[in-house]
Formats: sequence, C-alpha cells, structure tokens
Amino acid sequence: MSQQSQEQYQFIESILRQNLGEIGTIEDFQFFYGGNFNLAVRVKVAQGEYFIKWNQGDHQGLFQAEAKNLGLIASTGTIPVPQVLGVGQMDEKEYLVMECIPTAEKKENYWSDFGIKLAQLHQTNAHQGHGLDYDNFIGAAKQVNHWDKNGVSFFIQNRLKFQVDTASYHRKIDGATNEAFEKLYDKIPSIIPNEQSALLHGDLWSGNAMVNQHGLVSLVDPSCYYGLREAEIAFTTMFGGFEKEFYEAYHESFPILKGFHERIPLYNLYPLMVHVNLFGEGYLPAVNKILDSYLN
Ligand code: ADP
Repeated sequence: MSQQSQEQYQFIESILRQNLGEIGTIEDFQFFYGGNFNLAVRVKVAQGEYFIKWNQGDHQGLFQAEAKNLGLIASTGTIPVPQVLGVGQMDEKEYLVMECIPTAEKKENYWSDFGIKLAQLHQTNAHQGHGLDYDNFIGAAKQVNHWDKNGVSFFIQNRLKFQVDTASYHRKIDGATNEAFEKLYDKIPSIIPNEQSALLHGDLWSGNAMVNQHGLVSLVDPSCYYGLREAEIAFTTMFGGFEKEFYEAYHESFPILKGFHERIPLYNLYPLMVHVNLFGEGYLPAVNKILDSYLN
C-alpha cells in the first residue's frame, strides 16, 4: 500500500472508531470521486457497510447542514434517505458518516413509486411559510433560507436575487443581465402561483436519486428547504433522466397547476445561476435566453 493510501486508510479507520467504537479491521473499501470537491468512500467493517464523505476543510458547516437535511427528510417518513451516523472533524477535515445504500436492480414500479413518495414529501409544509431555520448549500454554493410567508417573494429574494447579486459582485454577469433580472422580479408574481410551502429535496437531479436494496428510490445529498414544489419538479427536467411514469404518478397524487410547462425555465434560472457562480460564464447564454423569453 502506498504511503498516501496508508494515510487515507488510517483516516477512515479513525472516523469509524470515533463514531462506531471498536470496528475491527476494514474488510473492503472503495473510493468515490463523484462530487466536485468532496471525497467519499464506501467502507465495509464487521458491523456493516458505511458511506463517508469529507472535504478539505473548506465549506465550513456543509456536512452539519447536510446531516440536518437528511434528518429532516427522514423525519417525514415519506421518502427514504440514508441514516446519518455521525458528523464531525478529523485532521482538520469535516466529514459525514452515513449508512451505505446497497444498490439493486430497479423494480418495475421504481419511477411511479418515486413520484408518489416525492408527492408525499411535498405535502409536508411549515407554518412559518417558505424558508428553513438554517442556511445550507447547493453543491458548494451557499443557499440562503430566510423565512417568508410568501413563496414567490421567497423565490425571488432567496433564490434568484441572492445568486444574481453574488454573480454581480464577482463580475460574472454584466449590468444588462442584472437589469434584466430586476425587470423579471417585477413580472414574476404574475407568472408563478403562490402555492403553500412544501418540503423539498432541493437538488433533485438524477445523480442524487439512488436505487436501494428494495429496488426503490433513496435520495442522497439534499439541499432542503420549504419552498415552491414546482421549483423541484422543474429542477428534475434540467439534466433529465426521470421517466414519464415519475411525472404521471406525482401529478396523480398531487396535481400540478395548469401552465407549469411555461414556468419551468423561470424556476430553472435558479440552478443555472448557481452554475454560473460555481462553474462560470458558460451557463450565461442559457440564462440570457430565458430572460429574453419572459421579458419580450
Ligand atoms: P457530493 O456531495 O460530493 O456530490 P453525493 O452525496 O452526491 O456527493 O455522493 C456522490 C455519489 O456517491 C452519489 O451519486 C452516489 O452514487 C454515491 N452515494 C452517496 N451517498 C451514498 C450512500 N449513502 N451509500 C452509497 N452510495 C452513496
């Protein structure tokens, strides 16, 4: 074993000991380099199999927020998520230990079951309205969640404006794009229906929907908040990969309001602006095209 893997091995062992007590020897482990800044490992010991993620000491509080998000979804009993076993710090790195999801073949009703369970999650709401008790992250980007009774103004202020202002501050968008957003904010209340708040996963692309040992969905990597459920359904269409049975079952359980398809690009300005902030200007043409389509 190279010195580097020896160190990583010891690092993983120490995290497991800190959270599970005496663990015996590591029987198997496999690295994941899925995310853009986290490292992860799937590790097997006598007690069972675990999934550990850690970062390099930046993005402080990210895993505490992720652990709370997972706990929040779990508390609804609607859609499965891995159980959190520990969150903490080791060698100046923050980590999250959770139950490992053993994957299996998708059951035939995977997508319809997923649609029904997501509709159930979305029927969980908060008396405070839209927001959350703490800020969290979407990918590596900060996500602010200041409570607002009005879902549309929450979406404008906490989702679009925060990302647009961040991009403006870092000179990733020019004055014209900024002005176009300002005009859009005035128009949005006449386009988006102000529905009751719904508990959202918040980062629902296909990579965060796993197939568990029952052949059914388990969600990972949530960026939860109580918000407009249409924003979540729109999000699933950004990169695709969700089957039509998913949308049909969702709609049957919790009907989506008329005109949703015309609103999808508007909701997706949020993940697109997050991408502008995280990965750069390559996403700007898509942003400007959407702005034009609503303003002209
Ligand atoms: P990041 O926050 O770095 O994007 P994710 O939480 O999305 O990391 O995890 C990256 C990949 O690792 C996922 O797409 C999934 O394949 C796998 N994964 C995540 N959580 C688990 C888990 N609890 N058990 C097994 N595999 C997992």
